[in-house]
Amino acid sequence: MDKNLLRKYAEIIIKTGVNIQKNQLLVITAPVENYEIVEMISEIAYKEGARDVITNWNDERLDRVRYLHAPDDIFDEVPEWRKMFYLENVRKDAAYLRLSGSDPDILNGVEQDKIIRSSKAFGEALKEYRERLMANKNVWCVASAPTKAWAMKMFPGLSEDEAKEKLWEAIFKANRIDREDPIVAIEQHKANLKKSIDFLNGHGLKKLTYKNSLGTDLVIDLSENHVWLGGSDFMENGIEFMANLPTEEVFTLPKKDGVNGIVYSSKPFVYNGTLIEDFNITFKDGKVVKYDARQGKEALKSLVELDEGSCYLGEVALVPYESPISQMNILFYNTLFDENASCHLALGEAYPICIKGGENMTKEELEKEGVNSSIAHEDFMVGTKDLSIIGIDKDDNEVVIFEKGNFAY
Ligand code: ZN
Ligand code: ZN
Repeated sequence: MDKNLLRKYAEIIIKTGVNIQKNQLLVITAPVENYEIVEMISEIAYKEGARDVITNWNDERLDRVRYLHAPDDIFDEVPEWRKMFYLENVRKDAAYLRLSGSDPDILNGVEQDKIIRSSKAFGEALKEYRERLMANKNVWCVASAPTKAWAMKMFPGLSEDEAKEKLWEAIFKANRIDREDPIVAIEQHKANLKKSIDFLNGHGLKKLTYKNSLGTDLVIDLSENHVWLGGSDFMENGIEFMANLPTEEVFTLPKKDGVNGIVYSSKPFVYNGTLIEDFNITFKDGKVVKYDARQGKEALKSLVELDEGSCYLGEVALVPYESPISQMNILFYNTLFDENASCHLALGEAYPICIKGGENMTKEELEKEGVNSSIAHEDFMVGTKDLSIIGIDKDDNEVVIFEKGNFAY
């Protein structure tokens, strides 16, 4: 891979992604395979003033071995030291960077029950950590680097080196690192997203109706105080960061009990290491009442039944069918990229920041505003080239938002 581009990418992760501040801790969660870029990122972070860089290495093959061979009751436990690792740093206002790169088939054959219990145990033990990140009380960024199994899943038939090289090219392209001046390109892109956000917020929408030829026919109510967001994120003190690199979406939250109809998936969705394909979900008063999948129905079931909130929606996001990632026309088997190629919805936790003043509301106040809460937040793709989305504004006028898969305005 082009070392020059790699360096530019690492700099954008530190300066634009987490926007590291002087004396701030940086926690990097990354696969052990990503050693090279983590080293580069750490060096840049220190040069930019990071107090310390703490690396939280993971290895999904070891996770698989553990799921297959460890005693069953270990999956209900979270050791105290691990909990403290997250809580101590989050309370010290650490910045969080995660490099996402995973073999979508890694947990094939692992009992779903173990995975569910483990994510529940972690979800509960790390509640404070999770809530602080969801409310932008700590900066966080998810970026990506190739791993062998992931690259070879995306580009079967190529050698390991060739597949990784191709995946690097795709990552650079998706993040506009291949442009003459990536920083300028990202700034321009943020300004475009801002235009969409201003349009949507300006209309004070009450409802969105989704229709396409797959059979999607879904009505999503929006809370009165919802806000559309996208591009950059802001902490309360005004520090700007980008939670996802890349990001193409504008998003808000649906009203928890205001989702009705059926929605069909437009791309495969990987949940906890299992591929779920060609599925549909029916909602009544916000709740999932029926679902089916050609492949991975069990995994979908485990998500829907994970907790009280995982059968409600927590995000509605708009991405034009002509977005650069969508134009690449490759399936990444990775939500970070695939969600930026398609309009999507998420089952589970909603972002409190999508409600005016939401970051400082209590759990009860958020509930009143129709904000869903769950230990899950899983995006799934619903956008197609014939998707239409019609909004109803505060004066009951129709506003055409999406036509033939793209923004209509
Ligand atoms: Zn999203
Ligand atoms: Zn999401």
